[in-house]
Amino acid sequence: MKIAIIGAGMAGLSAANALSERHHVRLFDKSRGVGGRMSTRYAGDYEFDHGAQYFTVSDPEFQALIDSVRRDGHVAPWHSRGLYVRDGVIEADRGRPRWVGTPRMNSLPKAMARGLSIDLGRRIASVTGQADDLRLTFEDGSREGPFDRVICTAPAPQTAQILPNETPLQSVLARVRMQACFAVMVGLEDRFDPGWDSLRLSDLPVSWMARNSAKPGRDSHLTSLVIHAAPDWSDRYAEADRADVLATLLETASTICERPLQDAPHLALHRWLYAFSDQPPVTVDGVAAHEQDCLIDRDRGIICAGDWCVGGRVEGAFISGRAAAKAVDSVATERNS
Ligand code: FAD
Repeated sequence: MKIAIIGAGMAGLSAANALSERHHVRLFDKSRGVGGRMSTRYAGDYEFDHGAQYFTVSDPEFQALIDSVRRDGHVAPWHSRGLYVRDGVIEADRGRPRWVGTPRMNSLPKAMARGLSIDLGRRIASVTGQADDLRLTFEDGSREGPFDRVICTAPAPQTAQILPNETPLQSVLARVRMQACFAVMVGLEDRFDPGWDSLRLSDLPVSWMARNSAKPGRDSHLTSLVIHAAPDWSDRYAEADRADVLATLLETASTICERPLQDAPHLALHRWLYAFSDQPPVTVDGVAAHEQDCLIDRDRGIICAGDWCVGGRVEGAFISGRAAAKAVDSVATERNS
């Protein structure tokens, strides 16, 4: 079958890796690189994983992928000195072992992208047609198709914008809530070590801080700090003046670091409008849910996948992409029998 996959983040790459041996697969992404929210921003000598900070691994197939890419040096465990500050009490931030891409977060998606056919810098405006005759229209007016199936892995609100209005998937998508997240990137010219590598915080505009340069495989003679605003706070100020947002977050972070960050040699702010979702989607009539991990409109041959189908993490995106691939294969088997 000819399959188009929209989005070359973890979910799209997971689906493509599972399908590309048996089907003709093409991926399309609006960005200049692969990885989606597993991304790395470069600024001179500084590098910042300004989206996903780390990932955890519990699914056996995800573990098998991580084991194989680890052998080639694309991921490593992050033995971070993590602290959790809650109601003024500081405790060790214990949890499942953390993994990161090496030397940058996008190294993992880049490794998964090898050998795949990926068109970058192409933003899809709409998906039209029915199963076995689906077309993609891009924002520059160009078109691709026909495809037998389309897997869309964009965040739910972006998926809603490009799928046909008539698909029952729309009523599921409309109920998915995704939260924003502001990311501040601070580059310092010294090796700043406050005694922690990551800090989780509650009840403040800032909910996370990490010394990116302390992750394995990074150049640590300079300090790259990543600061994330709390999702509720980010939602509230999503449309606020960017200078005010940056000033507030820097003020909070400076207090935490006991060091003024406002005059750092590098400062940047990024807004992730659709960063997180923690509620699995509620399905409706006409939408099949494959093992609950992806959503299928069988008549139109359109499958939705992404972290928002499975609780909003990197591993969830992998699981959802894999479910989308299985859904394609199960429909193919039904057709052939
Ligand atoms: P994405 O990575 O968003 O991929 C979707 C792709 O679709 C994107 O590349 C996008 O460019 C593309 N796209 C969208 N619309 C179109 C269009 N119209 N045409 C073409 N392409 C399109 N997870 C963790 O496990 N641990 C963490 O510590 C963590 N921290 C996070 C911190 C932040 C600030 C953010 C933003 C996310 C974090 N996450 C974390 C979540 C994690 O990044 C995601 O769960 C995961 O990367 C989602 O993968 P995905 O493939 O589902 O979606």
